[in-house]
Amino acid sequence: MDTASLEGKTALKEKILALKNRLKAVILTHNYQIPEIQELADFCGDSLELAKISKGLKEKVIVFCGVKFMAETAKILSPRKRVFLPVLGAGCPLADTITPLELIELKNKYPDAWVVSYVNTSAEIKSLSDVCCTSSNAVSVVKNVPADRIIFIPDKNLGAWVKKNVPEKEITTHSGFCYVHEQFSLNDLKRARELYPPAKIMVHPECRSELQDAADFVVSTSGMLKAAKKSSADIFIIGTEKDMIYRLEKENPEKKFYSLGNTRACIDMKKTTLDELYKALLKERYEITIDKSIIDKADRALKEMIKYV
Ligand code: SF4
Repeated sequence: MDTASLEGKTALKEKILALKNRLKAVILTHNYQIPEIQELADFCGDSLELAKISKGLKEKVIVFCGVKFMAETAKILSPRKRVFLPVLGAGCPLADTITPLELIELKNKYPDAWVVSYVNTSAEIKSLSDVCCTSSNAVSVVKNVPADRIIFIPDKNLGAWVKKNVPEKEITTHSGFCYVHEQFSLNDLKRARELYPPAKIMVHPECRSELQDAADFVVSTSGMLKAAKKSSADIFIIGTEKDMIYRLEKENPEKKFYSLGNTRACIDMKKTTLDELYKALLKERYEITIDKSIIDKADRALKEMIKYV
C-alpha cells in the first residue's frame, strides 16, 4: 500500500472512531469481516456471541458489521436499542433459502414436529420456529427438545451433522446451504493431508457431509478458536470463510493456519468496508426495525434454545 492510501485509511479510521464516540455506539464485527473492520471492533465474534454481548451493553447504539440476520438477532435480543447494519444489501444467501411460506408448508406436513432453526435465518423464520440453534449447539438442542420428529432448517450440511449425531430422532432437513462452505471439497482435504501430514484439519459444520467425516474437528468459528488454543498441534488447515484465519493468527501467533484448498470469501461479509462504515455512522443508517409481534415470537425461540444446551 502506498503512503498516501495508508494515510487516507488512518484518517478514515480516526473519523470512524470520532463518530462512534459522538453517537456513544459500540461496533460489533463478525469473524468473517475484513481485517480492517475487525481491528475497529469493540467486540469480534460469531453471530450469537455478538448478539448476547449487545444485550449486556449499557450503550444504546449498536453498529453491527456483519449480515442482516445477525443485526436482526441483536435487535430481537435488545429491542430497546438502536441497531444499525452499515450496508443495507449485506444479506446471507443461506438464510434466504427458506421462505415463511415453505416453512408453514413443512409445519403443516409434520404437525407433531418441532421446528429447530439455525440462527442463520430471518427474524420472520425465527418467529415461526419452536427453538433456534447455533452450529455449536445444534446437536444438543435437537437431542434435548421434547419431540421425536424434527424439522431442521435451513442448512442441509449442518442438518446432516445433526442427523449423524442424533440417530434416534426423525429429522427432516431443508435443502439450503452456504455457498462459501459448500465449495470446499474432499479432494482439497486429501491434498492438505498429503502436503501437511502433522496438521489438524478443522471444518465448519456447514461444509459437506463427507468433509465432516474426514476432518479432525467439526466446529463452529468459536469452536475453532478454542480448539486451536487447546490443541498441541502447530499447524491447522481451516475449512471456513477466509478472514477467520486473520482472527486465528492474531490469537495464536505461534501457530500456522492455512485455508483448506483455495481461500473462500463470503461476498456479503466483504461489503462492509471502512468507507461504508464511516457513511453508516455519519448518516446513522441503516437502522433495523422489526414488528413487535415478530420480535416477541423470535425472542421466545431464541430463549428456548438456552433450555436445551
Ligand atoms: S458465510 Fe455463508 S452462512 Fe455466513 S453469511 Fe456468508 S453466505 Fe451466509
